[in-house]
Amino acid sequence: MGLAQTAFTLKSRTVRRRSGRFLDELLANEHRPREEISELQASKAAAIARFAAANTVYYARTFAERGVDLTHLEQPEAWQRIPVVERSMVKEHRGEFVSTESNSRTAREAMTGGSSGEPLRLQQDSRVPTLAHAWRMYRWWGVEPWDNLARVGRWGFGLVDNLKTAVTWWPSKQIYLDAKLFDATTMRAFHRSIVQVRPALIEGYVGAMLEFADFLEAEGLSIPTPRAVATTAAPLTDNARHRLASVYGTPVYDEYRGSEINWMAAECRERQGLHVFADTRRIEILGPDGQPVPSGVVGDIVVTDLLNRVFPMIRYRVGDRGKLLDRECPCGVTLPMIAQPEGRTTDVVRLPSGGLINHGLMTMFSEHPESVRMFQVVQAADYSLRIKVVRGDDPLGDEHIRQALAHVRRRIADEVPVTVDYVDSLPQTGGKTKYIISEVGAAEPET
Ligand SMILES: [Zn+2]
Repeated sequence: MGLAQTAFTLKSRTVRRRSGRFLDELLANEHRPREEISELQASKAAAIARFAAANTVYYARTFAERGVDLTHLEQPEAWQRIPVVERSMVKEHRGEFVSTESNSRTAREAMTGGSSGEPLRLQQDSRVPTLAHAWRMYRWWGVEPWDNLARVGRWGFGLVDNLKTAVTWWPSKQIYLDAKLFDATTMRAFHRSIVQVRPALIEGYVGAMLEFADFLEAEGLSIPTPRAVATTAAPLTDNARHRLASVYGTPVYDEYRGSEINWMAAECRERQGLHVFADTRRIEILGPDGQPVPSGVVGDIVVTDLLNRVFPMIRYRVGDRGKLLDRECPCGVTLPMIAQPEGRTTDVVRLPSGGLINHGLMTMFSEHPESVRMFQVVQAADYSLRIKVVRGDDPLGDEHIRQALAHVRRRIADEVPVTVDYVDSLPQTGGKTKYIISEVGAAEPET
């Protein structure tokens, strides 16, 4: 055992006993038969909903209005009477979501990034040793909690939090690059730290990771090969995955997390869908009628946090679209699976006929990952579509791109013109790259 592993093991039995025990519980759950996981989830979901009904103004009121039967919440019929919580409701009635258990010891203020409008303020339950979720996921990738890590993203930590992080992680090293402060100097310094610290995992926003990859290539720099690269905060297209895997020389994994409810699902070593952390979150996929859709059908992702007792989030519409997968994974983890989330519900292409395309565009160039490094669909106010493409290395790339565009034209029945625009890079917003930008339907209310 190295020093880092010894220190981790010691800490997980002492100062971090709660995290250590929680991790043991998660690891035991992830191999239980599916029916057992689903029963465990139903009972935890019922318990948190009953707690919310008794201890928050918001859920007490809305459950009463809808006649939610608190005694049978383990049953799907009773559960589905619980009204879906929209982002706008949290914004408007924030105070009513705060439970009677919330105080300075139990609650931590949290804020969403605000990439989809005004930031949302809520509270996280500081009694939940939530980091164990990340450790569970890292193990799927062959990364241990005591390994060194590098992160690229938006890290709004204050100095105190920084110190706390350093102490809890010691002697493992964590290095950060703030995506907002990206320039040649910070990236060069980050590269030097990576060479020194040799992180087992590099984790970050997709756009920022791509930008850092471009930087390494342009400068002719190399890094010690990490065991894994992981991306978050935006849909990982097959093209981006291919690009990252080839520059970093290691498998690339997708994780699904949000600021409202942190870790929710992650890919395992198979990379054929994400395992839902079903023992601590419930993910439902709802159709336009608000009813659950079958596996394989794309709908709105609605999540319940089974652990947050200070600011309960029950059936919260996170604003992303996705689908359940009916799949048993050869990795041995029995947790249920979802496909890679397809991005924000508001990222849609609209047609003059009223049609909407809000899924599938993400995989537009999937068949030829070497042809396209990155792309973005821009819809102008006159409905016309411009596909901005950063070319890859495939000598037949232009032909593949023409074929992909022809496919898109057929899909929209030539209702609007589709053109391609070759560019050297795409605009970044704090390391997040949107892959659909639309100037049509800006009047749509935020839901
Ligand atoms: Zn798996």
